[in-house]
Amino acid sequence: MTTENPTAAAVVHPRSVVGTLPRYTAGKPPIVVEGLQSFKLSSNENPLGPVPAVLDAVRSLADINRYPDSLSTKLRTALGKFLDVAAEDIVTGAGSLGALNQLLSAFAGQNEDGRPDEVIYAWRSFEAYPICVGLAGAQSIMVPLKADGTHDLDAMAATVTDRTRVILLCTPNNPTGPVLFTEEVERFIGSVPADVVIVIDEAYMEFVRAEDAVDGIAMYRKYPNVVVLRTFSKAHGLAGLRVGYSVSRPELTRYLRVTATPFAVSSLAEHAAVVSLQNYGQVVERVQSLVDERNRVTAGLRALGWDIPDAQGNFVWLNLGENSTGFAALAEQRGLSVRAFGDEGVRVSIGETEANTRFLELCAEYTKAPQRS
Ligand code: PMP
Repeated sequence: MTTENPTAAAVVHPRSVVGTLPRYTAGKPPIVVEGLQSFKLSSNENPLGPVPAVLDAVRSLADINRYPDSLSTKLRTALGKFLDVAAEDIVTGAGSLGALNQLLSAFAGQNEDGRPDEVIYAWRSFEAYPICVGLAGAQSIMVPLKADGTHDLDAMAATVTDRTRVILLCTPNNPTGPVLFTEEVERFIGSVPADVVIVIDEAYMEFVRAEDAVDGIAMYRKYPNVVVLRTFSKAHGLAGLRVGYSVSRPELTRYLRVTATPFAVSSLAEHAAVVSLQNYGQVVERVQSLVDERNRVTAGLRALGWDIPDAQGNFVWLNLGENSTGFAALAEQRGLSVRAFGDEGVRVSIGETEANTRFLELCAEYTKAPQRS
């Protein structure tokens, strides 16, 4: 019998891990400042949006009373050609976050002996990692980044145990910005047991201009335990539609097909992604204009004497330590919403030209710039 008393508190018991996980903090929208246009620089979104053909395609899609193709066949076929990989090796998800969850539920959780599997990743990195790993039932092994915001691959290799099932490599690393390089990644893969799944999260790969940056697809071709994660959220400007994917060999992909959320990618999202790929030349032009802006911002900061890590995504990292929240508050007063991470630093997304200029103006007046230690 159900209780009829609407004021009674529900007596429910979540899994014990649920109480221990950090909440995902989405980037805040900017507050309204009288007389100033506000800008959101807190979620690494693409301020230019999708290419016009995508907007037209999304507006004209009619069949939304039908469920989507659960296998995203059209998108996987288009991606297969685009990446020159077998379409069977691609599994789509609701964003690359969805693809990551599918991966973790296939490969890392609670072991038969009741103890959690281990998932190693650098920290600080993408803030969803601890949540996804914890929800999968596995244990996070977080290895501190080096002072310059890069992965400490030697330290990561040294933490591998017989419980390690998955290692996440984020390149460029969100929120610090540097990439991993081919040679160091190959050395790392060679030093890790072949039954550990190595995930290369390349959410921002289109923005990378560093020479010899690792190419996840090349690693997938060479090493059977590598999975690549990519997304339409950043370069393609489709964050709101939620579409991403993983690429891996059939030996891994067959398990991902089991754990994939049914109908995770909507027909709208799939269609938009296909049209965006068809217009990739325009996507590249937009990405280049954001890379140009990123380079203007990093050059501007360095000219001011700011010591910042190499920025290869669509964001910059300010190592402001205990001044982080104070800086974010100052930015907010100027109509700029940026993302402070505790007392570690502030991540500022590359936005519209006016937003980037205003950010640089704030930095020019700010007196507690991060210096080389
Ligand atoms: N990986 C990284 C490194 C990210 O920064 C993000 C988004 N902030 C994602 C994955 C997830 O992106 P999406 O789910 O939108 O593809």
